[in-house]
Amino acid sequence: DRLLHLEVRVVPYGQRQNLLIARDVTQLVNLEQTRRDFVANVSHELKTPLTVVRGYLETMSDSDLDPMWLRAISLMGDQTQRMSQLIDQLLVLSRLENTSNDYLQRTVDIPSMLQNIIRECQVLSGERKHNIELLLECDCSLKGNESELRSAFLNLVANAVHYTPDGGNILVHWRAQTLKSQDGESTSAVLSVVDDGVGISVNDLPRLTERFYRVDKGRSRDTGGSGLGLAIVKHAVRRNSGELKITSELGQGSNFSCHFSDEVVSKPAVSKCIGRT
Ligand code: ADP
Repeated sequence: DRLLHLEVRVVPYGQRQNLLIARDVTQLVNLEQTRRDFVANVSHELKTPLTVVRGYLETMSDSDLDPMWLRAISLMGDQTQRMSQLIDQLLVLSRLENTSNDYLQRTVDIPSMLQNIIRECQVLSGERKHNIELLLECDCSLKGNESELRSAFLNLVANAVHYTPDGGNILVHWRAQTLKSQDGESTSAVLSVVDDGVGISVNDLPRLTERFYRVDKGRSRDTGGSGLGLAIVKHAVRRNSGELKITSELGQGSNFSCHFSDEVVSKPAVSKCIGRT
């Protein structure tokens, strides 16, 4: 009564026949599930003790201890906050991997979501004063999970801010794309986040969306990065019928684009510019 997972391939055999090759991957699938459960459980269990430690550190930082101890407490506070963010990201990632999102589907107003995200990222840019431009070429909405889409888009714009030097340019572009096929026309929608920042070398591109992968560990640590952001983006976009594509050139800048299939684009395309801020 065991549930089997099979990987099936069809390969041509001779001139008119095909060969069906089935491989039992049950053990691999079970192992992957065990890994996911382990990460989810450990992350969850770490949350409570960490909250207690943070609480005590906060109380101690208000006391009249020697300045040397207060500095140490403040450093410990920063590091525990970093750990807490890491755990939150791990929990987001395991939710994306382990749960179905069918019940949270609704029509998401992407243009207003992008406007809010840009406001937040302007605050993040602070004194570094990036020129963040929003170009809305369509008013399409998406049928999907609002919080997942928001988390994906926010990660992309925040990364562009992190990895673009002071005063650099970031373009957030929302547009519709009409694709012609044998079955007729379909309208997909594309979000691109383009920056003229540090860029990524061609060797690093294929591994970028792996968990914990960071191009330059020293530089990434400076920005407080964990290497989980793009893994979250990839899963969140995929769960909402989209695909993440990345192009980049070292020293020139990057383009992260999310392509959403016509099944989730809920408004007909408007092919004029409806806004630029
Ligand atoms: P992190 O938390 O380190 O930012 P991410 O998963 O979001 O982790 O990104 C993985 C790595 O990809 C980053 O460490 C960085 O090296 C690279 N990266 C992400 N976005 C950009 C970007 N817009 N420009 C250049 N490099 C980027």
